[in-house]
Amino acid sequence: MTQVYAADHVLPVGARPVRRGAVAVVDGLIVAVGPRDEVLAGFPGCTVEELGEAALLPALVNAHTHLEYAQYGGFGDGLEFGAWLGDHVARRPRQEAGDAARAARLGAALSLRSGVGTVADASYSGVAVEAVREAGLRGVVHLEAFGGPEADPAQVASQVRERLAALASSCSPLVRLGISPHSPYTVAPAVFAALAGVAHDEGLTQMTHVAESPAELEAVAHGTGPIAEALQALTRIEATGLHPVDLLARGGLLRAGMILVHAVQLDDHHIATIAASGAAVVHCPRSNANLGCGAAPLVQLLAAGVPVGLGTDSPASAIDFDLWAELRAALLAARIRESRSDALTAEAAIELATSGGAHALGLGAQIGRLEAGLRADLTAIDLRGSPLAPVEDPAVAAVYAGSPERTLLTVVDGVVRYRKGTDEQRIAALVAAAASGRARMMGPQD
Ligand SMILES: [Zn+2]
Repeated sequence: MTQVYAADHVLPVGARPVRRGAVAVVDGLIVAVGPRDEVLAGFPGCTVEELGEAALLPALVNAHTHLEYAQYGGFGDGLEFGAWLGDHVARRPRQEAGDAARAARLGAALSLRSGVGTVADASYSGVAVEAVREAGLRGVVHLEAFGGPEADPAQVASQVRERLAALASSCSPLVRLGISPHSPYTVAPAVFAALAGVAHDEGLTQMTHVAESPAELEAVAHGTGPIAEALQALTRIEATGLHPVDLLARGGLLRAGMILVHAVQLDDHHIATIAASGAAVVHCPRSNANLGCGAAPLVQLLAAGVPVGLGTDSPASAIDFDLWAELRAALLAARIRESRSDALTAEAAIELATSGGAHALGLGAQIGRLEAGLRADLTAIDLRGSPLAPVEDPAVAAVYAGSPERTLLTVVDGVVRYRKGTDEQRIAALVAAAASGRARMMGPQD
């Protein structure tokens, strides 16, 4: 059966917008994109969903999340980076069994409600695998791994192999696993190398937080500073004398399949190093702004040809999983950093949040654009009553009107996984179920 979605504005990404356009879907595959009348004529007897004054576009790709931290919003707000990290580490043990799974389930539902069809998660406990699969999201869940200079690299690697094996049965055609060595300050070079070996053997992508804060540069180069102090009870940090990007490059760890999250503290040499390596970058402008880390050199990374996606990171720093808010933050961060209003256009921002993320995750041949032959991951933003209606430029309208509240539906692999007006009660129940976990992390209140 052919399902057609029709809207006043179709934004295919990588091709010109189509006014009064439509997308035809058969068995989870996009089979046609074009003017509504042409698409309908090509598929007699198809079922049509008319979305009206809306923008229909590829489902968004949240290229860096921590779904199980869905309830951390606002914790430690205003603390400097090391203290914020310490606060995060101190709160986590207050959780009880089941809290992380309930949070991840909520995070997955809120992602779909934000128009997200694919997440690339970094999961401390691994519970995100089940949450992503159950929600019907497409995803890569990277199991977080840690290990300072005191750790045995072979032992860390074997533990990760065991965790990967234990979760393999929870995967699906849409959900696969990866490995996330947390960062160069929580994972010593030898441990990083051992984990890279596992990723290579298993054919998995890796995701790591790199060059995020000035405190990280100090920790990695000298083993001192606020991060070293915040983590001293957990791990020692070896002084390497190097910038985190140079450290990874020296270890042969920068390569295709390595996803570098943040990449804020870079000079031209680091950008060239990343570009030459084939590694990808995930830009998280709200997290970087909230933690006082600065704005990543997005324009320069893109100009160097680095595949860049957009990510919310966790609500501990970005407050929520709203990728539309992240997209607007990316616009502002680029325009502020470059003092140029064309530093990032609305069209380029949408590309970052769709095909950019897909390419960064190695999924560019499957998703990220509305194009015949790609999987049917799409979302629609209701533009009625927005300040952008009647619509002059649909990309500008989608960027500034896009929100969970205006998301009409999110389709993943041809299946509607979120629909406005149908799924709100279910999500409210997930919010209620997860509330006690947040309350526990808040500690005693007056
Ligand atoms: Zn993160």
